[in-house]
Amino acid sequence: MSTGNQFSNSLAAADIATGLHPYTNARLHETKGPLIMERGEGIYVYDISGKQYIESFAGLWSVAIGFSEPRLVEAATKQMQKLPFYHTFNHISHEPNIRLAEKLVEISPEQFTRVSFTNSGSEANDTVIKMVWYVNNARGKPEKKKFLARTKGYHGVTMASGSLTGLLNNHRDFDLPIIPVIHLTTPHLRTSGHDGETEAEFTARLLKEIEDTILAEGPETIAAFIGEPLMAAAGVLVPPAGYWQGVEALCRKYDIFLIADEVVNGFGRLGTMFGSTYFRFKPDIMVTSKQLTSSYMPLAAILFTEEIYDILADNTAKIGTWGHGYTTTGHPVATAVALENLKIIEERDLVGNAARVGKVFMENLQQLSSHCLVGDVRGVGLMAAVEMVPDKSSRKGFSQFGKAGGKAFASALQNNLIVRVLGDQLIFCPPLIITEEQALEVVARARTTLEEVADFVS
Ligand code: PLP
Repeated sequence: MSTGNQFSNSLAAADIATGLHPYTNARLHETKGPLIMERGEGIYVYDISGKQYIESFAGLWSVAIGFSEPRLVEAATKQMQKLPFYHTFNHISHEPNIRLAEKLVEISPEQFTRVSFTNSGSEANDTVIKMVWYVNNARGKPEKKKFLARTKGYHGVTMASGSLTGLLNNHRDFDLPIIPVIHLTTPHLRTSGHDGETEAEFTARLLKEIEDTILAEGPETIAAFIGEPLMAAAGVLVPPAGYWQGVEALCRKYDIFLIADEVVNGFGRLGTMFGSTYFRFKPDIMVTSKQLTSSYMPLAAILFTEEIYDILADNTAKIGTWGHGYTTTGHPVATAVALENLKIIEERDLVGNAARVGKVFMENLQQLSSHCLVGDVRGVGLMAAVEMVPDKSSRKGFSQFGKAGGKAFASALQNNLIVRVLGDQLIFCPPLIITEEQALEVVARARTTLEEVADFVS
């Protein structure tokens, strides 16, 4: 994959000799080698040969403010110089930790009054599982342990958060799931709808499935429902109208905690500050990460209600502690960077930009629908998918799953475009700073890529 002379290049050789990459076929990597990135500037990144790419996936759905923001460098440097590390165990705190929690409460939906930090989205979801179990034990409902999640949902890769994830490759040969979890139907009409089913009928069927499952398992055993407001890694799947309102009503009816995993949706991705704001529902717990620091530093934040806090806090008083926390919980450099990042998102109205540029981006991506390979174009804000199919009149995929996608990724790179490929879908999630003109350039490069894939598969 690497441009230039990867086998005489000592970096590539060292990578092949010593690395194990996430989400990579290790044996293939030994022959293919790495694409080595060197620097970033705005929405662009450059590999070690100096080749420039538009990064239309914001790294991993995450770099809201672009790849070269000096204010974040300054915030990190200042904090490094002042207090590079301190922990938050045993009543200890520091200013960036306090200010960031305060800021998150200020900008999030009103029910959220409390914040807890972790280093990654996976750890955050892991912590949430423990938090829900701890709280249910504390309020005398120890049987309430099961989680409801969705097939194709993504919630991370630790033993417990990976159990919530509903994707085959995150379970097989890892002996997951290890916690009690039920994966329900993926809430996306094109993916899971029956032939001829209307959106309203589909929503009703999904909600019936949830309620039937709760009743079959016993409401007294169901702890929480977790979902991404708009499913990201599943392929940018927009839920049907009324779905989230129905889920919320069922959670209230059966005393089930509702958890919004906003690791991708959070901080403006959909053109609103949070995904639950866009879809108009009220979770009890919200998990955020990625755009919280634009991934310049590892950090995740869990927001939750005062009601949950009170039960939890009372239990800590009873047993003596909340026996949970990481060495780097609320890390001073990460929280200082997050504060500056959120300030920039606000000052530059990047949430508004996501809505405005997202609209133009989607309108232009929609024009790709007439292409012979394109079966569906969908998205919200600055998050979109273009699904490639062999036959537009059918929802069926290619007989060799991922072949068109693999070619598309390689062609896009040739066209100086980094796009995420999931199976045979092209996924776009550009930095929130993208301009209209740059968004149109992404579409133009995607069109050229599709032409090349069409020649390849025909
Ligand atoms: N939740 C969602 C919705 C995600 O998309 C991800 C990662 O992509 C995670 C959780 C896990 O986050 P991390 O990779 O930081 O562990």
